Amino acid sequence: MPIVQTNDNQVPGGIYLCQVNEKISCGACCGLYNVADSSYESIMKMLTWRTDRFSSVNRNMDAILDFKEEVEDREPQSRPFPEFPHCPYIGLAGKERSRVGCLLHPLLDENKGIDFRGLSFYGGMACRVYFCPTYYSLSAVSKEIVRETAINWYGYGLVITETKLLNTVFEEIEHRLNRPLTANSLLKNNGCLKAVRKLLNLKINWPFRRKSSSGPANYFFKDQLYSRPHINYESSEKTVSRYNNLLQELESQFDSYNDLQAAEDLIDGLINKVIV
Ligand code: SF4
Repeated sequence: MPIVQTNDNQVPGGIYLCQVNEKISCGACCGLYNVADSSYESIMKMLTWRTDRFSSVNRNMDAILDFKEEVEDREPQSRPFPEFPHCPYIGLAGKERSRVGCLLHPLLDENKGIDFRGLSFYGGMACRVYFCPTYYSLSAVSKEIVRETAINWYGYGLVITETKLLNTVFEEIEHRLNRPLTANSLLKNNGCLKAVRKLLNLKINWPFRRKSSSGPANYFFKDQLYSRPHINYESSEKTVSRYNNLLQELESQFDSYNDLQAAEDLIDGLINKVIV
């Protein structure tokens, strides 16, 4: 989660994604969502406790490492992606604690300009210079749209790392518009903006997510250590949906033809509102 570079022109792809503004930031590459319960309420509770507790921790190596032990003792260590490290130093940042951020970062008031990230799992250098696949795999327009439509850090971090999902959605919109997509044209109309938000929010509240899914957390690195199972269309009496790629990325499961129809109608309805 590099948070030193704040200018778009200093990052790969020209759009800065990690710390966007007071409310919008991401901690996905630090394993933020790789927790037993990835609901907003549970993650918020976890981050609030850590931030409160860490504010009284002395800034020396032993105390900081003891804090890690304390976090790991009190929080469930079962994870949807066991080989994807979860950083115990993710907390809340900003004057109002309104976004997710690194408790070891030198810009955190209590750290008084000292960079303690060398004590994290990945080490200080990786934290400073790492950029996730989204930086390289998503168009600048798509990145801008996601940044502009995000309401809070929780949803933003979940969706910004979903490159296949986002590319599929924006390609479909562009195809239906029959002209190149621009953030301005899409978001200047309030109705459109709301529809884009709802469309991206399907990532969080998708009603057809397969029952065995561990929730909205995803593994977005390119090493294919974990992959999403293909959709089984048997019970829906279809061979494949026209939205197969999108439904696949939403980890769908359909128990009947009606379920699949309802899912396609839901997506159709939202895309139609986006392209008015
Ligand atoms: S997952 Fe990507 S956007 Fe999010 S903090 Fe990491 S590098 Fe930044």
